[in-house]
Amino acid sequence: MNRGSGNHHVLPEHEVFLLFETDREHGLDADEARRRLHQIGPNVLPRLSRRGPLVRLLLQFHHPLIYVLLAAAAATTAIGELVDASVILAVVVLNAGIGYLQESRAERALDALVAMVQTEATVVRNGSKVRIPSEEVVPGDVVVLETGDKVPADLRLFAVQELQIDESALTGESVPVAKQSLKLPADTVLGDRANMAYSTSLVSRGHGRGVVVATGADTEIGTIHRLVGEAKTLQTPLTRKIGRFSRILTVAILVLAALTFLLGLARGEDAGYMLTAAVALAVGAIPEGLPAVVTITLAIGVARMAKRQAIIRKLPAVETLGSTTVIGTDKTGTLTSNEMTVTTVVAGDETFTITGTGYAPEGTIRLESAHTSAAHADGLSPDRFPALRECLLAGVLCNDSHLSEHDGRWGITGDPTEAAMITAAAKAGLRQAEVNDEYPRLESLPFDSDRGYMVTLHRKPGGGTVAYLKGAVERVLAMANQELDADGQPAPVDHGAVHAHTDRMASVALRVLAVARVDLAPPPSVDHTGVTTLTELSDELLAGAKVTVLGLQAMYDPPRQDAIDAVGTCLHAGIEVKMITGDHAVTARAIAEQFGLSGPAGQALEIMTGRELSACPVDELPEAIERTTVFARVSPEQKLRLVESMQARGHVVAMTGDGVNDAPALRRADIGVAMGVGGTEVAKEAADMVLTNDDFASIEAAVEEGRGVFDNLRKFITFTLPTSMGQGLVVLAAILFATQLPILPVQILWVNMITAVALGLVLAFEPLEKDIMDRAPIPPSRPLLTAALMGRIGLVSIVMLIGAFWLFHLELDRGASIEEARTVAVNVFMLVQAAYLLSCRSLERSFVHAGVFSNPWVGVGISAMLLLQIAFTYAPWMNSLFHSAPVDAGSWLRALGVAVAAYGVVGAEKAIRRRLSSRPGYPAVKGSHAGH
Ligand code: ATP
Repeated sequence: MNRGSGNHHVLPEHEVFLLFETDREHGLDADEARRRLHQIGPNVLPRLSRRGPLVRLLLQFHHPLIYVLLAAAAATTAIGELVDASVILAVVVLNAGIGYLQESRAERALDALVAMVQTEATVVRNGSKVRIPSEEVVPGDVVVLETGDKVPADLRLFAVQELQIDESALTGESVPVAKQSLKLPADTVLGDRANMAYSTSLVSRGHGRGVVVATGADTEIGTIHRLVGEAKTLQTPLTRKIGRFSRILTVAILVLAALTFLLGLARGEDAGYMLTAAVALAVGAIPEGLPAVVTITLAIGVARMAKRQAIIRKLPAVETLGSTTVIGTDKTGTLTSNEMTVTTVVAGDETFTITGTGYAPEGTIRLESAHTSAAHADGLSPDRFPALRECLLAGVLCNDSHLSEHDGRWGITGDPTEAAMITAAAKAGLRQAEVNDEYPRLESLPFDSDRGYMVTLHRKPGGGTVAYLKGAVERVLAMANQELDADGQPAPVDHGAVHAHTDRMASVALRVLAVARVDLAPPPSVDHTGVTTLTELSDELLAGAKVTVLGLQAMYDPPRQDAIDAVGTCLHAGIEVKMITGDHAVTARAIAEQFGLSGPAGQALEIMTGRELSACPVDELPEAIERTTVFARVSPEQKLRLVESMQARGHVVAMTGDGVNDAPALRRADIGVAMGVGGTEVAKEAADMVLTNDDFASIEAAVEEGRGVFDNLRKFITFTLPTSMGQGLVVLAAILFATQLPILPVQILWVNMITAVALGLVLAFEPLEKDIMDRAPIPPSRPLLTAALMGRIGLVSIVMLIGAFWLFHLELDRGASIEEARTVAVNVFMLVQAAYLLSCRSLERSFVHAGVFSNPWVGVGISAMLLLQIAFTYAPWMNSLFHSAPVDAGSWLRALGVAVAAYGVVGAEKAIRRRLSSRPGYPAVKGSHAGH
């Protein structure tokens, strides 16, 4: 469908509707939309052009080790060892194949994540607003844009209110641009087309509507072919560091091998022998698998986090998660379930309780003072209480949400706080649809956290207008001139009484909102078409109005049980949890107490309000923030200061957020966490991690997995390095003592391949250690390899060196052939690595501690290795490929003895270190919250 592509900004509004055969109010018919979707295809951006499979396969050969192997193959061909040359080449190809498969797997895992965080759009179909996946938006759709939304397609705007859009993804211009709906000259450049909104840009303020003029690849962003925010790379600071480390090591080993070769020649050794020795040294000592291991472990970590509802958007977050020392979390929806029920209403000097839970409009209203009276068992009629009636009515009118029923289950669209008020009014017989018909809305000033209230203007049934206001109690009281008494008559506001009611309800964890009537001065007049003389409701207009408090509505939001458990786990693991909420301090305290939150190191719980935060001198701020657990009535802007102050104290901060204004704090935090369900697209875009269920427990799970990733990486590296070092040492020793080589290059390749694939890889599937959340957070400066682990790697390498060298010579002394003696040496390497694999399952304790059967792959890996090794030793074709030979049972037993010795040595080393390390420091922090 080509409808004047690219020039929609020159058209007047009505022509756009004609061109796209759509309607301003009605939008498209659902059937027509389906037809267009079928014809034009889904609204998805073309994938970022990744390298093709062939190029990626070829790139696998672009590694220093492969060059060494290719050189080795050439050299062995030159000295006529064709079989060796082909084995080496086969290994090269196999290596590349395995690398390719692993990389593809990691990439696929990351790709899958993109699909898990789905973007939705609000469109008008058949005359009503519906939320649909962005992919289903078609040309001609009328799209409704709200603050925080991502623009789903290219739109010609036709109704805008304070609309500002961040188009930096498209134009690079970081300041949001103000939008309007008038037509523009043809030569207006893209960045100045103020009546257009472009796909993937973000609504940073206001709201508006537009007609879709292009989708998918036809959009501006589609034509410049850039997939913003989703282009994932497998690179992180850690993979880069490891990559650099292994390149330096490779070069050093190559230099060493070359020097050895030259020295040997100078000493008059045979050139063929020296060449083989140098190649063996290079091939054996270079830890070729290392960078891949890091990438794969990270990718596995990402996949495990996704399973636990935490989607990583920026890979480096996986590394940082395990070091988290503070989690700053929202209250509503993250700690609590965000299912609000109004339970108490205070209006006209009376307190009413409302029964029933959830959004079903089933329940009754009772006078609290008449709680036990049988006369009121069926509830009361709100008509007897004018203030109550108007308070409930205002709650429904000043409201952007809806209730819906499907198969007897009640759900909501919009804000749970508002939906709760609709349910409460329905219990008193005030149905939203009827009330809205009776009092049609003319204007609105939507709720936002900074403003703290919402206002709507309505036409009254009898003529004239009325405005209703609802919001945070202090905000409404600050504007209030009067309140309604028991008879519905205006009376002076009793601030003390209102605050007392608020505190009483908030102290039992209720969220309290005040509801008021607003008489604007001068009153707006309405003509017969329903148009007011008022262009817009504004804060200035309200300043001159008369505000009458109608009452308070208090609602309960139950805490999430799994979040309570997760908070406990975090505290136990030395991670502080700070609650940051827009809600009232007393409500926040009551909920914090339900979660078992206290001050640092078990001190009394301290609360700071946003106002106190602003008043606090800058130099005292970090100290004050450290002491405080709950921050109430905090504006999103203040979150950024909280993050910065905590970071200044050396904290690694995870911070949650959902709104547009949370984006700077999310970006600044070490781990910005956005809400997948309740969050805006702007917040998701800024975040490192998105929770698909908005639940605090998922943050805790991600931290746990983050610690696991770090743990598994250390295990993997600790396991892998001794193979390289041990073989390198054996070859060096042979050269030094001018003896025959106990192990040949092709055999080294065999050992490396089998230990990496059959043994090492199983560590990536190692489950989390049971005590992972009993430890303190990992200091960000802690290297993967501590001195202790390097010592252990050295120890195992030396055991291998001694074992292999000794048994090799023992065999020769017993009259065995050189092939048999080498086979025994290879067996030593393999068996020691198998025993050492068990040791590496837990770095601090024995593998029994990690659970003997908790990783079934260990058994599979060791059995596979043994079978392969038996084939290596006894299968004639293996013998001719790898220069191996059958050996007797005694030699196996001796090799096994070395393996047992290696296991024993490491076990003893662990035990000594455990005893030496000054308890109760590393690693456990059981019972303490300090952690740093
Ligand atoms: P949290 O920060 O714990 O997640 P929150 O984000 O819901 O809480 P805000 O949305 O900033 O906090 O709400 C702050 C206060 O504004 C609430 O305590 C309530 O009094 C008031 N409020 C919340 N929602 C609305 C609304 N839709 N209309 C009017 N007032 C509201």
